[in-house]
Amino acid sequence: MGRRKSKRKPPAKRKAIMPLDQQFNCPFCNHEKSCEVKMDKSRNTARITCRVCLEEFSCTINFLSEPIDVYNDWVDACESAN
Ligand SMILES: [Zn+2]
Repeated sequence: MGRRKSKRKPPAKRKAIMPLDQQFNCPFCNHEKSCEVKMDKSRNTARITCRVCLEEFSCTINFLSEPIDVYNDWVDACESAN
């Protein structure tokens, strides 16, 4: 009987430090990845802030919301404001 080497997972590719993609390009100052989303699921709110131009936006979320949804809401709000 051939012995089988124990299965080994291939090493995970190292990514940037951010565990999730929560940094987005700013629709105001156009800096890349300058906007950070903070999700507060216990209060059903989320806030996104640009650390370059300090624009911010908050909206209500639900348990399915992802940071990208918050960002999309922000971009929509910007576009409808223009
Ligand atoms: Zn900005």
